[in-house]
Amino acid sequence: MNDTDWMRHALEQAALGGEQGEVPVGALVVLDGEILGQGYNQPIGSCDPTAHAEIQALRQAAAKVGNYRLSGATLYVTIEPCHMCAGALVHARIGRVVFGAREPRAGAVVSQNRLLDAAFLNHRVAWQEGVLAEQCASLVSVFFARKRGDSNKSKRNSKRKSKRD
Ligand SMILES: [Zn+2]
Repeated sequence: MNDTDWMRHALEQAALGGEQGEVPVGALVVLDGEILGQGYNQPIGSCDPTAHAEIQALRQAAAKVGNYRLSGATLYVTIEPCHMCAGALVHARIGRVVFGAREPRAGAVVSQNRLLDAAFLNHRVAWQEGVLAEQCASLVSVFFARKRGDSNKSKRNSKRKSKRD
């Protein structure tokens, strides 16, 4: 299994979130070729503002090994982590994070900040981007396009039947 293989697995997790109406982001924690934890974005369904894919995967992995420190593990996530998740990666002592697509509005690794490279941190998380970036980004953009389409459709239908019908 290489980075691309693991990212495919993260994409499957992301799709599960999308099916539940959550923004489709998926993550997994891998150590020595084994998945320790995985998850997808689900703040709406779980009424939990911290329930980002990375947090879900970290919680599951830490519970599995019985240690909040996941030294040497790699976290794969389809979209660039936000500030909360980047902070959690440092607390978990994750060795490396690999993400698919950038998140221009809120990404904390390279887009809006370079938190993982900050000099004040006592732990360095190596990071890499761009693995299956197009697939990771398109999953999110298709999700939002469909949402917009649904709301436009209901607006149109309330006025008149759409031309395609
Ligand atoms: Zn996050």
